Amino acid sequence: MDEKRKELADLIYPDIKDYTYYEEMYPARNLPEGAEVLRVAPSPTGFIHVGGLFQGLVAKKVAEQTGGVFFVRIEDTDQKRKIENGAEEILNAFEEYDIIPDETVGKGNYGPYVQSERQEIYKSYAKKLLEEGNAYPCFCSPEELDKIREDQTKAQERTGYYGKWAKCRNMPVDMAIEKIKNGDPYIVRFKSPGNPDKKIRHKDIIKGSIEFPENDQDIVIIKSDGLPTYHFAHAVDDHLMGTTIVTRSDEWVASVPLHLQLFQVLGFKVPRYGHTAPLMKLDGDNSKRKLSKRKDPEAAVSYYTEEGIPKEAVKEYLMNIANSNFEIWRKQNPDKDMMKDFTFELNKMGVSGALFDLVKMQDVSKNVISKFTAEEVYNEAYKWAERYDPELKEMLDDKEYSLKVLGIERGNQKPRKDIAKWSDVKYIISYMYDDKFDKNAEKEYQKITDKEEIEKIVKTYFDKYYDDSDDKETWFNKIKDLSKEFGYAREVKEYKANPDAYKGHVGDVSTVIRVTLTGRANTPDLYEIMKIIGKERLLKRI
Ligand code: GLU
Repeated sequence: MDEKRKELADLIYPDIKDYTYYEEMYPARNLPEGAEVLRVAPSPTGFIHVGGLFQGLVAKKVAEQTGGVFFVRIEDTDQKRKIENGAEEILNAFEEYDIIPDETVGKGNYGPYVQSERQEIYKSYAKKLLEEGNAYPCFCSPEELDKIREDQTKAQERTGYYGKWAKCRNMPVDMAIEKIKNGDPYIVRFKSPGNPDKKIRHKDIIKGSIEFPENDQDIVIIKSDGLPTYHFAHAVDDHLMGTTIVTRSDEWVASVPLHLQLFQVLGFKVPRYGHTAPLMKLDGDNSKRKLSKRKDPEAAVSYYTEEGIPKEAVKEYLMNIANSNFEIWRKQNPDKDMMKDFTFELNKMGVSGALFDLVKMQDVSKNVISKFTAEEVYNEAYKWAERYDPELKEMLDDKEYSLKVLGIERGNQKPRKDIAKWSDVKYIISYMYDDKFDKNAEKEYQKITDKEEIEKIVKTYFDKYYDDSDDKETWFNKIKDLSKEFGYAREVKEYKANPDAYKGHVGDVSTVIRVTLTGRANTPDLYEIMKIIGKERLLKRI
């Protein structure tokens, strides 16, 4: 080893362990053939973007289905953006959505899983690079860097710290030692071996084959605060933690040449990369833009909690837009568990940004909720109401009754699909509660509009036909009889065959009863509704 360089490295990092210590401490993972190790590496900035959940779901899914490992690493090296409890909030969000990491803060053998707690490790590898001459201290002040940039712009050259512009790159080691002893401030830079006239080819799992010029930027690896930059931490951490596939947002694609070079110079095995396109939103009719934390409330994971969209629905929808073949699979396998039974393929992820559509998500949610039992709907709606809607909570406090209400048309072949989110529940079931049902409200009776006729139909029905002990068939036959009595066809078919012979059909008559009793022209099964409300309360409504 070059003695001078060793002296320099020791001067910069005097009490740092040799990197071999960490290589031994974190041996290669012993995993079966084909098992993949994936991670998400969020920064605790206080905002949890639904895109982060998307990333987590994808990484967890691939890890799980290959029998590998999914871990969460907190990237908190940007002290300016870091907020208190940010890491906790991220981990809670993953927990809430059942995207449970195998390893993260507090569990796993490859930690610490928080970058600010790994400073010694980064320094150890930076020291290795310094000793080898693959890194050097840079003394350029911010003003000097500005000046370099200005000169580059004037000369119409690429900006950055590279080649002939990299003033400290070829500084004699002696001089660097002297400056450091002298107390001059510095940071540590990577000494790039790249030649931008040469091209490299990289095969991204999602984006396919991409060609780049080699990197020649001498990027900062350790900042003045002693913390690593993202690039350096990425290489060190994903190496030591044994990541086999790096899935991350495609804003990092341009850094691939640098990252490949870092891995190579550090002597690390290169992971595979899959760069995911951002979630997009339709803006106006034809243009798409990124789902924005500033403009779109639905970009925040907290939005779904507040609206009461169940986590199963959010994940189901995210899987829908992650893999285009999921929708067909779900049609063929309506009751299977997507995490266990669906085969996710990273290379089937879209290259150009999946469209994130709240309306579609709610359709998915209606389907998901339709499969819940009444008890599940009750529990989830109640939990939501406790937090966000005291009025709904009060309605649901009568559990026995509410379970009946929520159980209407549920658990059968064609379950009701009207609830997309817990915040819908209050409106959807309100007419089942006497204090919410407004007897005198303006009602929309649809086909039959004559007030007198309506009153007569309802009165006749209750005087002559209605019997609360009737079974469903008898109940319906009586409505048919009632229809006939008033000149409406007993069957829709009959009416359609001979429309001039009737005033309308049984549907129009039952609508009159439905609207009178519930205030709504559309409800689930009227027979069940009437059974649950019961005679005494029904009579009060007319
Ligand atoms: N902390 C980086 C980010 O939030 C992580 C990128 C990566 O997954 O490597 O963008």
